[in-house]
Amino acid sequence: MSIQTFAELDLIEPLQHALRTAEYTAPTPIQAQAIPHLLKGRDLLGCAQTGTGKTAAFTLPILQRLVNNPIPPKAKSVRALILTPTRELALQIAESCATYGRYLKLSHTVVMGGVGHVPQIKTLARGVDILIATPGRLMEMVADRHVNLGDVEVFVLDEADRMLDMGFIRDVRKIIASLPASRQSLLFSATMPGDIAKLATSLLKEPIRVEVTPVATTAERIAQKLFYVEKPAKNRLLAKLMEDEAVGRAIVFSRTKHGANKIAEVLGRSYKGGVEVIHGNKSQSARQNALENFRAGKSRVLIATDIAARGIDVDGITHVINFDLPNEPESYVHRIGRTARAGAEGIAWSFCDGSERAYLKDIEKLTRQRIFVEALPDLPPLARGEAVEERAPRRPQGNGAKNGGGRNGSSRNGGGRHGGPANKTSNRSSQPRHAEPRAAQADGERPVRAPQGERTNDNRHNENRASRPASNNKPQRPARQEDFRNGDYRDAERSNRNGNAGLYRADARPTPAGASEGERPRGQGPRRSGGPRRSGGGQRPNA
Ligand code: AMP
Repeated sequence: MSIQTFAELDLIEPLQHALRTAEYTAPTPIQAQAIPHLLKGRDLLGCAQTGTGKTAAFTLPILQRLVNNPIPPKAKSVRALILTPTRELALQIAESCATYGRYLKLSHTVVMGGVGHVPQIKTLARGVDILIATPGRLMEMVADRHVNLGDVEVFVLDEADRMLDMGFIRDVRKIIASLPASRQSLLFSATMPGDIAKLATSLLKEPIRVEVTPVATTAERIAQKLFYVEKPAKNRLLAKLMEDEAVGRAIVFSRTKHGANKIAEVLGRSYKGGVEVIHGNKSQSARQNALENFRAGKSRVLIATDIAARGIDVDGITHVINFDLPNEPESYVHRIGRTARAGAEGIAWSFCDGSERAYLKDIEKLTRQRIFVEALPDLPPLARGEAVEERAPRRPQGNGAKNGGGRNGSSRNGGGRHGGPANKTSNRSSQPRHAEPRAAQADGERPVRAPQGERTNDNRHNENRASRPASNNKPQRPARQEDFRNGDYRDAERSNRNGNAGLYRADARPTPAGASEGERPRGQGPRRSGGPRRSGGGQRPNA
């Protein structure tokens, strides 16, 4: 019989009381499945992402275990260690410890980068019941003997796949090596790449396995829409979409830190609802301020990179906007999961330019869904001087322009196995052999709809075209702005291949050879499906 209420879980009254205070009425699936086993001391392998309630799933049993055996922690020792990849997640977990442990007398603290060492050292010196840490700073504290992990009774490795992505896996292994052999261990990961599966095997003893909302299934409550739009028009499209009053609270994702700053700068000029930015180059206090303003509703838009936004838990996000498509399809699922939380409905808008087609293909392959194409609204013309500002920074010389920018060569031949966001102005022979001929991607495969369900002339034109056989869709004319406005630049793309390369861009400015390649951040070629992951966004680990 499945567990429906917290009362059915064997949780002590102070925890039940805290759950009532938090107004939780029923356990989430991961809580219902994991808590009974964790209370019995079992190890656990949890396939779950943020938003599933996994923090309570591990925090509640930890609190109960520690309080049922109330030994004060020794100086410089900790009884439970929760390792998490980002500072934001660390702070959120600490908040959960405070929420669920409010009627217990257990101590917890956070050890993370970006803030001073001294207060952390002082707290650790007294010993703490629960330590929440990011790997880099914890390693320092262990190396400098400010903390000893030899008394850890429960160890949680949170977001293990992100640890791998962010280059923390070696630190994680070292930290695990300094834990005592006798302990309870939990590993949570949204995806299970080979390295994490191996790590799980060595870390966990006969774990129970709990899997909720596999990453390959995007939330059904999220309305996903796609805009085909060339890069120089993305800022104008964003500004236009933000005029929609239904946008209550939005996260806009950028693949790069520089891009995030640029989006904030451009949007900030026209948008009056307040714009915040978080990314790895911002100081911890700037990031916290930005998040607080966003949470409190002082700013309605948060521009973020994947890593900085990872696990951000803000209620009431109505829209997720993928200004850039992520180069790792799993990130798309994580991104759009920021909306439609706790039963709410959400909207995810994705902008796809010519250099991002392979990313789109990877996303649709992973989610096994085609994203609905939305017609572009009418956009104002590019303001004088705007073109220069919208252009991405120049790519450093000699950075793999020929091989699609893949640092480790995994995206050879201009953009990966699926036919990439290769430089569209370049010689066609650089396209991968099995790139799908565009004409074969019948427009009819994707429904095209006008914004807000309106039937516009543009849209009717599109619908008509969608019902035509693909073979009729080859325009023998230069690409025009309307091709993009109609939400379908494939005509423009085909025109390019017919010798109109300079007209590829939405604003019909000549595209310098290699520009679309150059816009892709370093090491950001699309990942070959099943191939090695790269750490996203050229971002550095936060901790
Ligand atoms: P997490 O996946 O742990 O980041 O949790 C996502 C959000 O769900 C957080 O805001 C939690 O406070 C909330 N939450 C966790 N468990 C429950 C529950 N049983 N009922 C309602 N909200 C919950």
